[in-house]
Formats: sequence, C-alpha cells, structure tokens
Amino acid sequence: MKVYLDHAATTPVAKEVLEAMIPFFSEKFGNASSLHAYGREARKALEESREKVAKLINAEPEEIIFTGSGTESDNLAIKGIAFLHRKGHIITSSIEHPAVLETCHYLQRKGFEVTFLPVDKYGLIDIDELEEAIREDTILISIMHANNEIGTIEPIEEIGKIARKNNIIFHTDAVQSVGKIEVDVKKINVDLLSMSSHKIHGPKGVGALYIRKGVKIEPVLHGGGHEKGLRSSTENIAGIVGFAKACEIAGSRMEKDAEKMMKLRDKIIKEVLKIEETYLTGHPTKRLPNHASFYFRGIEGESLVLMLDSKGIATSTGSACSSKKLQPSHVLLATGIKPEDAHGSLRVTLGRENTEEEIDYFLGVLPQIVEDLRKISPMWYKSK
Ligand SMILES: *Cc1c(COP(=O)(O)O)cnc(C)c1O
Repeated sequence: MKVYLDHAATTPVAKEVLEAMIPFFSEKFGNASSLHAYGREARKALEESREKVAKLINAEPEEIIFTGSGTESDNLAIKGIAFLHRKGHIITSSIEHPAVLETCHYLQRKGFEVTFLPVDKYGLIDIDELEEAIREDTILISIMHANNEIGTIEPIEEIGKIARKNNIIFHTDAVQSVGKIEVDVKKINVDLLSMSSHKIHGPKGVGALYIRKGVKIEPVLHGGGHEKGLRSSTENIAGIVGFAKACEIAGSRMEKDAEKMMKLRDKIIKEVLKIEETYLTGHPTKRLPNHASFYFRGIEGESLVLMLDSKGIATSTGSACSSKKLQPSHVLLATGIKPEDAHGSLRVTLGRENTEEEIDYFLGVLPQIVEDLRKISPMWYKSK
C-alpha cells in the first residue's frame, strides 16, 4: 500500500487542474502582452484566473499579483516594504518558514533591525509582546497564519488590529492556511498575504501575493513591467490557470474537506499518543484541519521517516526544507522542546483524498516501528 501523508510539503495536482492547464501549453500558447488574438486569449485567461484566486480570499482581482512561488511572494512582500523605506524595524516570529526568516536575516545584514518574537509551547505568539515590540521606526509586521511544521494557527485577526491601530503594514504567510481554513482579507486587517499553488493541488512554481489596495511596495524583479510593474516576467499562463482552478476547487469544497480531514487527524492524534513517551507538537485545537505532529522520545525522526517509507508511507520530520540538515527544527526549539526530543519529530499532513483505510494502515504499522527503533536506540535507554 502506498500512502501519501506529506501534504504540507506538496500536493498532487488535481485532475481538473491538469485538464485546465493543458491547452495553455499547446494551442493557447500566447504571450499575454501581445496584441494579437493569441495574446488576447492569454490575457483573458490571466484575468479570469486573477478573479478566481481573489475570490478564495475575498480580495479584489486587482489586489492579486502572480509570482513564481510562495517563497517569492514572501520575498516580494518583505523586501518590497523594506526597500521602499530603505531603513527601519521589522517584527516577525521565531517560527516562520525559511522564506520569511532568511529574508529577514538578509535584511538584518543590510542594516534593517528585526525582532523575532518568541512563541509559547504551542507555537503561539503573545499579543502583548507584539505590542511591546512596536517602535517608532517599525515598518512591517510579518507573522504567518498557520505554521507548516506544527500546524498552529496564529491569532492573525488580533495581530491585524494591532498593526492597523499602530499604522504598520501587516504581512502574513498564508501558504498553509489558504484553501484549508477560512482566509478573508476583508475580515483580517492584513495588507500583504502570500499564497502558493502547489500546497493546494495546483502546479509547482506559481504563487500569488495579495496587496491591499493603496499599499505601496517596491518590486524585486525589474524588467518589462508585468503585474503592474511589481513582478516583471512573461506570465506563466498555464501555471496560473492551474493555480486558479485549484483555488476554485478548494473554495467549493473547503468545509467538507476540512471536516473529513479533521476526523482523520483527530483519530491519528488520539491513537499515536497512546504510544508511550510520545507528545503532540503545536496547539491541540488551534491547528490546521489536516495537520498532526509529534515527537517520540528516544528515536531519530529521520529513521522513523525512512522506516515508514519502507512501508510505503510518506511523512516528514520537521519541515521538508530542513530535513536534509541535521540540526533540529528551529520551530520545535522555539516551542521549548529539548534538542534531543526535537530530533524525534514526525509530521503527518493529510490531503482531501486520504481515506480511513490508509490512516488505519499507518496507525497499524507505526507502534511496531517506534518499538523497533527504540530497541536499538542508546538515547532511549539513557532516558529510562
Ligand atoms: C511551502 C511554504 C512556503 C514556500 O512556498 P513555495 O511555493 O514552495 O516556495 C512558504 N511558506 C510556508 C508556510 C510554506 O509551507
């Protein structure tokens, strides 16, 4: 049996998405900047896609800029504000995705000051600490909506209110939350919001940045002036059409999918926690409907992932981006988990196609794998 339980890393392209894309690789190959019929056809597809993506987050189409990825959207948002101001102070959290964290580190090297807010044991930032961190020269607050490693959902409505009250631009990385839980830019006072196509059954290499009407940013890519001059590059029409289709599908079935995944998620959490010395990471309830994450004392997450893989089950330890490093995840450490425990982390992230049968298969093989790994683990005997 092959079971894919790593949807926070990427998702399969939905059948309808692929079908929508195919004509744009062949007969509808036009450049959206061209004046002729081929160009107009591409332009029309581009603008219809913009409407669909906007609709999923209750934005206006003209507030959506297409990019090449979630990473690019994060870079454009943060550097876009930083480069506009030339100097200043940025507030972010210590559990951001590397696309935000490393952009902030880069800006620190370029002379900007950055506060990395701590989080509690569930991965939540503290609203009072956020308020205290605000300075005269704060130009941006960038706090993610939902965390990719531990699934925790941050209080972004409250963050938005504080940002608004203090007249500071608020960016959120919503790559993990869009399409899974309600994201309504008219309800949250967010100015900039990053999305990525391949996390919601769209193709890889496409993203979007929501930019609230009236908010000014500098471009990162300079060139032909595409996307209102904010993202020069001939538009990836096929990718954008696929992303839009993925948004449309996600929007139409979000509640139903969330309910189904949440049931499976809760079963996973309940059963996995029966294994001794096993702990949930992230928040018990304020978490993504498709996200379960744990650590198992005394074992290596890498070994666990490989043993599960040998049974046909795809999971991850920490984040997919950091799993090749041998350092424990910065997110788990920020929640106060000891480094030796953080090494034993496992992330199980569901998709709408997962079945109860698949989950039962996973739950059936996991306890024995954990026991076998502990039998050969010096860390396990030391902790006893
Ligand atoms: C996957 C992910 C990204 C990066 O998106 P890409 O499209 O893969 O570049 C950014 N932020 C979060 C929270 C993610 O999960």
